Amino acid sequence: MRILILSDIHSNLVALEAVLSAAGSFNALWCLGDTIGYGPQPNECVELMRQHAQIAITGNHDLASLGKIDLHDFNPDARKANIWNGSQLKEENRAWLDPLPPSIHVDRQFLVTHGSPREPIWEYLLMPDQAVANFEFFPNQVCFMGHSHVQLGFRMRSGSEHAERFLPDTGRTLELNSSTRYFINPGSVGQPRDQDPRAAYAMLDTANNSIRFHRVAYDVTATQRQMRECGLPVALIRRLEYGI
Ligand code: ZN
Repeated sequence: MRILILSDIHSNLVALEAVLSAAGSFNALWCLGDTIGYGPQPNECVELMRQHAQIAITGNHDLASLGKIDLHDFNPDARKANIWNGSQLKEENRAWLDPLPPSIHVDRQFLVTHGSPREPIWEYLLMPDQAVANFEFFPNQVCFMGHSHVQLGFRMRSGSEHAERFLPDTGRTLELNSSTRYFINPGSVGQPRDQDPRAAYAMLDTANNSIRFHRVAYDVTATQRQMRECGLPVALIRRLEYGI
């Protein structure tokens, strides 16, 4: 099975469509949260997830846009974009987002979470020490997470007390080793923050037990134009072209 792993779409439909067309055929889609917030097309992005995602979880911006967590936990620009995103949501899209949990045990091998296993909504899992601590919080071999908007992974061999962080190259395939545990962040579709403005995603191949990391260029200026028309904050518009 080819499983498309997406995170942090953030209402960026142009980026999402570029990813869906570059990904080719897939058998399932797992969405790691923050489908909305920041960007200009929340309904269209939710509708594509409703259509394609077998597994979907919620993120901090989804919850804020739904009015389920305190907006004061966000900086003023993010807060403004969350309020705007929430105000745009059609009832059926709100109803789809509303019950999503922040993490799901998919099966014995895989866990999906937005932030981290120990703090599914808020923790940014970026450092090896955090990965080591978080491996204690779940039994599965592999955890897919989003939230940091950085395409990366951590691996820890059984018996080791240290985790190794790796930054994947585009098109690189990671073969999963049965005696190693992993954290995998596919990166952000709609607002990458690793100095690469291209949309990020990953493809899990369960037949080969491998994960391939991808980047795809999209029309950033089209999303920026839409954001300007919606009156979204200038800093959120500018950051897309730098990938920050
Ligand atoms: Zn996010």
